[in-house]
Amino acid sequence: MEYTNFDIVEVPRRCSGCGRDADSSGMRHVGWAVPVAVSGSAQAYCLGCASVLRFLPWSAECAGCGREVDDENEAEEKGWRFFRNGDRELMSMCADCAALEVRRRATA
Ligand SMILES: [Zn+2]
Ligand SMILES: [Zn+2]
Repeated sequence: MEYTNFDIVEVPRRCSGCGRDADSSGMRHVGWAVPVAVSGSAQAYCLGCASVLRFLPWSAECAGCGREVDDENEAEEKGWRFFRNGDRELMSMCADCAALEVRRRATA
């Protein structure tokens, strides 16, 4: 996933969501998000808040064929599925690949 909507060049002092500073919210290390809708107002959110508040553009890439979908509703409609891959990672798959994956896991 790419975060391209960084309007603020310097590390924000604190997250507008949780109020933690750049160090404790992780912004200094992993980056932050500036919601497009309110750009110009110098609000910045740590990635934790950004994903909770859904500022980050949603997109998924199929782990099977590389097809991409950038709309959550569209993904749902088209039958995209998410598989747990190992401990924590979620793997997204389009309907076609998901069907194969289900079959593969069923016979494994
Ligand atoms: Zn935050
Ligand atoms: Zn696929």
